[in-house]
Amino acid sequence: MDEKLVPVVCPYCGVGCRLYIRSSDGHPLGIEYANDIPGISNENGKLCPKGNAVLEYVLARDRLKKPLKAKEQGKFVEISWSQAIKEVAERLKEYSKDDPNSMMFFGSAKTFNEPNYLIQKLARMLGTNNVDHCARLCHASTVSGLKAVFGAGAMTNTYRDIEEANVIFIIGHNFAETHPVGFRYVLKAKERGAKVIVADPRFTRTAWFADIYLQHYPGTDIALINGLIHVIIEERLYDEKFVRERCTGFDELAKTVEKFTPGYVEKITGVPADLIVQAARTFATGGKGVITWAMGITQHTHGHDNVRLLATLSAICGYQGREGCGVSPMRGQNNVQGACDLGVLPNVFPGYKAVSDPEGRKFFEEFWGTELSGEVGLTVIEAAHAIEKGKVRAYYVMGENPVISDANTNHVIKALHKLEFMVVQDIVPTPTMEFADIVLPAAAMLENEGSLTNTERRVQWSFQAINPPGEARPDWWIVSEIGKAAGFTGDGPKGFNYSGPEDILREVNACTPQYRGITPERLKANLAGIHWPCPSEDHPGTRVLYKERFLTSDGKAHLAAVEYRGPAETPDEDYPFLLTTVRYVGHYHTLTMTGRSRALVKRWPEPLAEIHPEDAERLGIKTGDWVKIVTRRGEYPIRAKVTRTVKKGVIAVPWHWGANVVTNDALDPVAKIPETKACACKVVKITEEEARELMKKVPPVIPEIEIVRG
Ligand code: SF4
Repeated sequence: MDEKLVPVVCPYCGVGCRLYIRSSDGHPLGIEYANDIPGISNENGKLCPKGNAVLEYVLARDRLKKPLKAKEQGKFVEISWSQAIKEVAERLKEYSKDDPNSMMFFGSAKTFNEPNYLIQKLARMLGTNNVDHCARLCHASTVSGLKAVFGAGAMTNTYRDIEEANVIFIIGHNFAETHPVGFRYVLKAKERGAKVIVADPRFTRTAWFADIYLQHYPGTDIALINGLIHVIIEERLYDEKFVRERCTGFDELAKTVEKFTPGYVEKITGVPADLIVQAARTFATGGKGVITWAMGITQHTHGHDNVRLLATLSAICGYQGREGCGVSPMRGQNNVQGACDLGVLPNVFPGYKAVSDPEGRKFFEEFWGTELSGEVGLTVIEAAHAIEKGKVRAYYVMGENPVISDANTNHVIKALHKLEFMVVQDIVPTPTMEFADIVLPAAAMLENEGSLTNTERRVQWSFQAINPPGEARPDWWIVSEIGKAAGFTGDGPKGFNYSGPEDILREVNACTPQYRGITPERLKANLAGIHWPCPSEDHPGTRVLYKERFLTSDGKAHLAAVEYRGPAETPDEDYPFLLTTVRYVGHYHTLTMTGRSRALVKRWPEPLAEIHPEDAERLGIKTGDWVKIVTRRGEYPIRAKVTRTVKKGVIAVPWHWGANVVTNDALDPVAKIPETKACACKVVKITEEEARELMKKVPPVIPEIEIVRG
């Protein structure tokens, strides 16, 4: 028996924990903690419940094992790889010839850097920039907002800096549940005496650890942050030297926040004025401060401005370019940062070179040996509208699940019915797969190898631990075979002839300045990985960004001055509650993975809608009763949990089980992210029978797919 201990990266969240898979002849025997690798993000090897259950979804009974072709919606027949590749490549070539922008490509933050690089390269070589991934639904505002203020859309520091901070401001981020191992750095800082400020509309497990807790209404973030900045400027607590030497726009900022007095902000946010003053003083006088956020900040029609204001708050306090300081947006999936870095976005090539910039375009035209479009492509949500209008006719989805993950599910489903041709590449059946014409079975992360970039810009290599089931193949292999079959057979970067992910990463090294020195050889030899930017092979990587200058055109931080605006939809007579969406520690994304783990499903079996006791009493609702959440877009059946975790008038619903049937797809005008964190709703008590009937209208997260064996 050939027993091995293989180092991998956890396939779940953006913390990027390492663990070992013990395997024998390609079969898994169990997991072991990686407590012997210095410098990794989970240094003592600890994992959260998802990381501990990592083998369960990989061993799911319904793993896809052969390519499939649809007979009718949701019914498939097995076909060979050669037939599947040929049919996909031929159809894509036809659309490319007719109108390249009639195609849309969806990359995946749940897979490696290498296939993500390839899917955007394939889209662009076929003539379109219509390529996007799920960062659009989680951190698009982080990318655009940080780019506007600092010149680049990434975490400016590392977990080590959170541990070394004296004050940590956590806003719109249930850190303890969504990134449990990363949260240990907050706890370590607190043990040292650091102060923790938490702002969240819901009293979360993270809020339990706060020294100051600010419970604002969903969607009132701009007012809250402006209020903090108001106090800091009014009391001259900001870093005058840093502002003078390294920032622009301070006067306009000071003028804009003038009216955001603590009393005025209390009226908008519901946060007592004295707490706003206390939080502002604590944050600005900490000496070393970090701000972290997640989707409570980003998933708003003002997500871009929320992020700009947080970056501004950090900069005026002088918390940039130093260790123990910085801004730490926490990415949800384990490779969101990498998919963004490598150009799986409709407006930029790898390394964030704008598609509309003739210079950047020329570089890639020469590198890939083909003419490229300079027209900014469609985002995921825009694609759904374009499909509905018949402008997008073909959709290639790699490792994503838009039926459950996109806002306003009913609209997405209506649109997908109109597609002419859809390809879904995934490891298990999903509700999205029901719309596919061709299904391509992919190997899971542990059955595959390649590089991944965690939330702190740490690029790590994950090795292959076990064999994929049946004929499932690595994502990089599938996309490169389609690329070759589509006629891109040139040498090196001009084609898709790769012998493995190493070849692809070397191509990334050659075209992505931030990754220049991050070679496969270095990553394999250094399990703790390398933080980008890493400009050469002898460079150690970069822990803290912006020590000397920012990446803006003048090297300065461009402070944002933002007037208050709330959510696109606010409560009214018909829809009197404000609905927000939340996450559970034991689940992840749209349940394609955690929904197949018996241990996790047993511990977190169902979603619960949190409702304040006074609202519940008025509506005659008790914990465990069935209710339906009704919005202008749909109805969602769920059991109620009566609790004081939410304010009166607010309803909090977990997102994983398909709550997007009721969320709002109104977009932030810059980041184009939908506002899944705040919309108006009503709550109606229903019987169990009514709930069961209503459930039939919500797509099941784990669908039954009929497959005729070949
Ligand atoms: S914290 Fe994230 S990366 Fe670490 S074990 Fe949990 S899910 Fe995996």
